[in-house]
Amino acid sequence: MTSFVTTPIFYANGDPHLGHAYSGIIADIFHRFRQLTGQKNVFITGTDEHGLKIASTAQSAGTDVTKFVDTKAAVFSGLWPELDIHPDIFIRTTQQEHKDHISAVWQQLFENNDIYLGKYSGQYCVACEQFYSPRELEGNLCPVHRREVETVEEETYLFRLEKYRQRLLEYYLTHPELITPKHFQDSIVSLLQEGPLEDLSVSRINNAWGIKVPNNNEHTVYVWIDALFSYITAIQQTGNANQSISQTVHVLGKDILKFHALYWPAFLLALELPLPEKLVVHGWWTINGQKISKSNPETTVNPNTFSHQLSSDGLRYALVRQKPLFRDGNVAIEELTEVVNADLANNLANLVKRNNTLILKYFDGQLEETIKHTLDDDCEQLLASCQNELERVIHSYKEYDLYQATLILKQILDQLNTFFHQRTPWLISKGRDSQHVRNTCFVVGNILRQVVLSYAPITPRLSGSVLAEFGIDISEGLLRSSIELSAINISQSNSHFARIQLGN
Ligand SMILES: [Zn+2]
Repeated sequence: MTSFVTTPIFYANGDPHLGHAYSGIIADIFHRFRQLTGQKNVFITGTDEHGLKIASTAQSAGTDVTKFVDTKAAVFSGLWPELDIHPDIFIRTTQQEHKDHISAVWQQLFENNDIYLGKYSGQYCVACEQFYSPRELEGNLCPVHRREVETVEEETYLFRLEKYRQRLLEYYLTHPELITPKHFQDSIVSLLQEGPLEDLSVSRINNAWGIKVPNNNEHTVYVWIDALFSYITAIQQTGNANQSISQTVHVLGKDILKFHALYWPAFLLALELPLPEKLVVHGWWTINGQKISKSNPETTVNPNTFSHQLSSDGLRYALVRQKPLFRDGNVAIEELTEVVNADLANNLANLVKRNNTLILKYFDGQLEETIKHTLDDDCEQLLASCQNELERVIHSYKEYDLYQATLILKQILDQLNTFFHQRTPWLISKGRDSQHVRNTCFVVGNILRQVVLSYAPITPRLSGSVLAEFGIDISEGLLRSSIELSAINISQSNSHFARIQLGN
């Protein structure tokens, strides 16, 4: 069965920044993990290209709006390869098949009487292009822009959100792990328990840049239905049924939790579709202590600025190693450099280099599988301990806890480095017992292979380079939780990760 991992469908109003890259990296890691463990998984990302804000940004840039979104979509899709993010589907909400899909969705919701024409009056932030309920406002100010909202009343189509509140609540109560981490699910459950939900405005009359509402071309479909259903348009493009949304993991920032945890499942219930498998909610990054914001150019730098400094592997690793996904964190390049050098350059790549150099020099690059029958107790103990830890790494990946996975991997490497230093295999040149050295290199090499494979979803280049030295192609289904001791055959011993020097 095919499973799916998605990033949010990013709003193509500006250029991608670190926040977008973070969502993309997390989704790419989940995707690679699933592939490495033998699951067929499709990775979906894309751009949300409609709405008043895009139309007015294009206009003030003096650009035709179609050309504007073409350019932005190209910038987003062009960013991913440099970060080793490889989506299978890049969906754009301006694609004809998406427009057709949205028309069909609308038609069905309308015929079911889930959508009706009414009036909506509310507090509206022009910059957000969004209505806010009184409790979301800070005084009379938009919580995002801190500018005064306006009272706006207009004709709009409304979706009967309240009609699905009870069913949603029951669903969440019977699926307590739908949203991870759990405290986000708790917040949604209490919202649902609090009482009636206002019907949701799902069209706009003052915006021409959007998908026309069938049979009422005064209106265009508003972002909720337009953007969220792009996940299913993308699934359709893979030849799978709409029901595959039930095998879909959505990666999203906490700022868009409500859209994904309330509106989206309510729409799906209305269409009698299953709900997603999982919502993985992540926090935000500040850059040098400053919130990422369009009004602060220092924070909206191209994410490749960081990958050029840290390497793509280094950036990917640092972002998941620095904090649990759901927390907020701060990017200070010196700190990230330190952790990347300590963990990837010293702890991992350097140990691979030293161990493989010994194997090459003293054993012609070959250690037979039969060595596994001659291991001493210390080797056996190390194996048992690392085996146990590697199972916990796999478990952490499955629980979408990438931070925990990196912590355990680091512990394993600490243990391996300590073992290597206590065993002093390099003293073979000074007459150290050769069987002792052979056992050491064999055990360390075998564990390293498995460790490097476990790192592969996060650091694909480094892992690919090390595994190639061991004569292993990264391929589907390779990652298992058990260490299977086997022969080591190498013909060279390379440096796989250059220490990051700042100031490059
Ligand atoms: Zn606002």
